[in-house]
Amino acid sequence: MPIKALPSHLINQIAAGEVIERPASVVKELLENSLDAGARRIEIDIERGGVSLIRIQDDGSGIAADELTLALSRHATSKIASLTDLENVATLGFRGEALPSIASVARLKLCSRAAGADSAFQVEVDTDGTLSPLKPAAHPQGTTITVKDLFFNVPARRKFLRTENTEFNHIFKAVQKQLLVAHSVGLSLRHNRKTVLEVGPAATQDQQQQRLATLLGTAFAEQTIAVDANAIEMALHGWLGQPTAARSQPDMQFFFVNGRAVRDKVIVHAVRQAFQDVLYHGRHPVFVLYLTLPPAVVDVNVHPAKAEVRFRDSRLVHDFLYSTLHKAIAGVKPNALPSAANHPPTSTEPLPAAPAQVFNQHHQQSRVPMQVAEQIQAYAALYQAANHEPVTAPPAPESTPELPPLGRALAHVHDIYILAESARGLVLVDAHAAHERVTYERLKTQFAAQGIARQPLLLPLTLVVSPQEADWVEQNPDLLTAMALELNRAGPDKIVLRSAPAVLVSADHERLVRDVLADAQQHGQSAKVQEACHALLATLACHGSVRAGRRLTLDEMNALLRAMEATERSGQCNHGRPTWVELTGQELDKLFQRGR
Ligand code: ADP
Ligand code: MG
Repeated sequence: MPIKALPSHLINQIAAGEVIERPASVVKELLENSLDAGARRIEIDIERGGVSLIRIQDDGSGIAADELTLALSRHATSKIASLTDLENVATLGFRGEALPSIASVARLKLCSRAAGADSAFQVEVDTDGTLSPLKPAAHPQGTTITVKDLFFNVPARRKFLRTENTEFNHIFKAVQKQLLVAHSVGLSLRHNRKTVLEVGPAATQDQQQQRLATLLGTAFAEQTIAVDANAIEMALHGWLGQPTAARSQPDMQFFFVNGRAVRDKVIVHAVRQAFQDVLYHGRHPVFVLYLTLPPAVVDVNVHPAKAEVRFRDSRLVHDFLYSTLHKAIAGVKPNALPSAANHPPTSTEPLPAAPAQVFNQHHQQSRVPMQVAEQIQAYAALYQAANHEPVTAPPAPESTPELPPLGRALAHVHDIYILAESARGLVLVDAHAAHERVTYERLKTQFAAQGIARQPLLLPLTLVVSPQEADWVEQNPDLLTAMALELNRAGPDKIVLRSAPAVLVSADHERLVRDVLADAQQHGQSAKVQEACHALLATLACHGSVRAGRRLTLDEMNALLRAMEATERSGQCNHGRPTWVELTGQELDKLFQRGR
């Protein structure tokens, strides 16, 4: 066949193949346009999962009559005019592709009245891509886009559509995601004329928290750890679900970069690493996080549906995310009561004198010297909370004002649970899970303090790898040394391992090295050695911990309670299950209907 330029209708259909995968993609693109137009109120009507109708009305800036047809042509946009604009783009759209793409695979009608104009106009796109003449129409300021019979001319795409409910579910998720970041907009979503979602604008922090509860459920909103951290030119805020709220699917993970919802390998990796040893294998953490950084250091033009970004320095972003989240999670300790748990530990707040004394009394023997300030602080929060109980709560007994957070042990129930009396009520502890956690954290601390000891292999291990991987090995001796790996290049595509971490003598060295190299290729670094060492320490901790079935003495139980108070992440066992629960005096009163 001779070479021919494709007709523009076909070009648009090809572009639609990438941008419009299913009804939810149409909703996403149209919603982005409404938000870019500064809408404060958006109405979305969906029929039959979006296949027969998608209609979005907004009260944004609208489109001038003489630009209506331009809005529907390919590569026409009001959002950027130069490459510099693209590098600093602050709008969600910039490719000028959505409207013509949608119009090429559905029946589209565009009706709009620009701010200040005295009438609205509408234009329709015919099935062959030609535009109807402009017609005056009745419409308040803003834009309505009506999309009917999606994929009527693309049978291949129609075949991939799922049930009406599944498609609507995808639409719901797309809307939900935008609402988590577009706080100032109010929106209603109807499916088959039934209202499914109705939210008002959320200006204040409280309203945003309320919106979070509406969109993700009260359970999530109440059990979160707030994150708020700043670095040079970068900031991260949002909410992390407690490790115990993790899910079997990664379906509640929302990440926004400069207000744009994205999925990104660097981000996923950093988050997973931060949750690494508080999550049971295969569980997925829950989070809503907002990263802001200068537009110039993130490339948003790497994906047709704008669902991915590329960071100029992905390592920097990775490390910032990891350290911020890791610290926020580490703050979840027994003494972090609900109120304290809502705030990540910061070391800048002044410490009241009295709680520091309490701290000294109970923690002199602590063998975990890390982040003492944090511990003191969480303690301070606890003691404040304990002393400021509302009047309805039973007063703490006068005789025991010095009761530590997890209280004093009374009994080892069924040789499994420690029963303790705390200032607020009763505490129950799963002794094995708690001991395991404490031992594990202690092993990790010792391990970190001593560095990773290295031991030569009996037989050096030669591996065939890619030339890029061999290059990386040659260029990163320091990183490898820090991981206690003595690894050298032995040819264009060969490397030799001569020593490995001593704790991993009996590990699968080949797999370890291959994992390290795979990570290094993707992220420029690897936590695999540390992960493998931690996994081993976790096993040691499990074997070295008290078994159910052995009765502990009061002294042993109290020692364990005190160790838990001093240990990071001791609110969960190594598998993400809770290690302790508390029944407050109020809850006990309720059980016995006292005070009614
Ligand atoms: P992009 O969003 O990348 O610019 P689109 O094809 O989505 O490309 O939209 C083309 C243009 O149409 C936009 O640049 C904008 O000027 C205009 N437009 C689309 N939707 C709206 C809307 N809801 N309100 C105001 N203007 C809109
Ligand atoms: Mg757009």
